[in-house]
Amino acid sequence: MKHLLTNPAYKMACDQFDAVADFLNMPEDVRDRTKLPKRLVTVAIPVRLDSGKVKVFEGHRVQHHLTLGPTKGGLRFHPGVELGEVAALAMWMSWKCALADLPYGGAKGGVAVDPRKCSIGELERITRRYTSEMIPFIGPQTDVMAPDMGTNEQTMAWIMDTYSHQVGHAVPSIVTGKPVSIGGSLGRKEATGRGVAFLVNRAIDLLKLPNDSRVIVQGFGNVGSYAAIGLAKYGARIIGVSDVSGGVHNPKGLDLDALQEHVTRTGSITGFPGGDKISNEELLLQPCDVLIPAAMDRVITEKNAGKINCRILAEAANGPTTVEADAILRQRPEIFVIPDILCNSGGVIVSYFEWVQDLQSFFWAETEIFDKLYRILGRTLDTVLKEARKHNIDNRTAALSIGIQKVVNGKTIRGLFP
Ligand code: GLU
Repeated sequence: MKHLLTNPAYKMACDQFDAVADFLNMPEDVRDRTKLPKRLVTVAIPVRLDSGKVKVFEGHRVQHHLTLGPTKGGLRFHPGVELGEVAALAMWMSWKCALADLPYGGAKGGVAVDPRKCSIGELERITRRYTSEMIPFIGPQTDVMAPDMGTNEQTMAWIMDTYSHQVGHAVPSIVTGKPVSIGGSLGRKEATGRGVAFLVNRAIDLLKLPNDSRVIVQGFGNVGSYAAIGLAKYGARIIGVSDVSGGVHNPKGLDLDALQEHVTRTGSITGFPGGDKISNEELLLQPCDVLIPAAMDRVITEKNAGKINCRILAEAANGPTTVEADAILRQRPEIFVIPDILCNSGGVIVSYFEWVQDLQSFFWAETEIFDKLYRILGRTLDTVLKEARKHNIDNRTAALSIGIQKVVNGKTIRGLFP
């Protein structure tokens, strides 16, 4: 699987793993077994476009390990999707699920397509054909998909429908993050963002920062917007926000309701009158208390890691900080990092709740869901901080080593099959 290493995200995930394996003194014969993905599936997705022409899209699904239960992870629609990137994201899902004690291995899927350039009909045909091609490899006890970048509740509904049609009855547990009306869970849509807000708020308390801390959010999609709204509710001031089109900055604080209304009406942040226009790169460098990358991977690099100006770096995106940037951040102990596999784990935790509810056909109240979510997040944060203090290591190494160790333990006790 060395060919995957040409992808920078996969190389980054492997480098992170190797460093943690060294820290854990992991025996050589356990390393590859734990690191390499169990199964990679690439499919061609021929789809008739609205124009009448046929276009073939490329789709992937990577299942990292099946040691502790089915694999779990999102499906991403983005023009830059590559097999190596999907494999990296699957690996991160493994450590994320293990860290939160969920009975899952990691997975990720992706289709190389720009969903903003597709009609709703084209998106439906891509999703259904992708699902058909994946049917031999997925199932409620094998691999369960969820939304990720560029996909949403509707995408999950199409996957569920295609799968259910194939097996002959409704199978809600085949996906999570689907609409509540067909077996989705209350709170799943907001879960990742609200989880980020909860953890940041805990970190604000720990560092004794003011309640009206200044927050910058890169990415105003499902995760970034709910994180911003959640933090505003805790009393924080959102001073900068961006999306792919660029950003808006106002040190006095942005009116989030007006911003949301603008985004819903125009489709992007561009032109929002409540602040100054700013580029994505510049926004990351503005002084703030909390910086939340909530979009693409590898945005905090060796070029800007020495210049970011925050006390808390809350990684709502998957893999936003490169290994080189991490080395710089380790020299900046004033920055408290909430690593991605902890910071954004609220999404997959509530996905787990959704799967459990579907399997039992017994649904929970929203208060119950958030109560359980915050208990798991709070406990996991405490465990990570304790591990970091005990070994005098950074929060990311602590989080990764806890997650990786749990997978190793499962593999050691089961044997070579999973
Ligand atoms: N796509 C989300 C993630 O990266 C959620 C995955 C899930 O809920 O399975 O964590």
